[in-house]
Amino acid sequence: MRVTVDRELCVGSGACEVLAPDVFEVDDDGAVRVLQAEPDDEDAVRQAAQQCPTRALSLED
Ligand code: SF4
Repeated sequence: MRVTVDRELCVGSGACEVLAPDVFEVDDDGAVRVLQAEPDDEDAVRQAAQQCPTRALSLED
């Protein structure tokens, strides 16, 4: 699985970082950076994508 973020949509809520801290990090600009584009913990990343309030995360299998 591959995960990307649309930083224009991200509002920096941090929900994804809480669910998958190895994969996502809110940076100083208040938008998320993807630390692991092909994450090991796919379940956590799927959950993060579902819970993102602005649908900023995209997943590709
Ligand atoms: S959950 Fe969505 S809006 Fe919140 S920090 Fe992550 S990508 Fe950004």
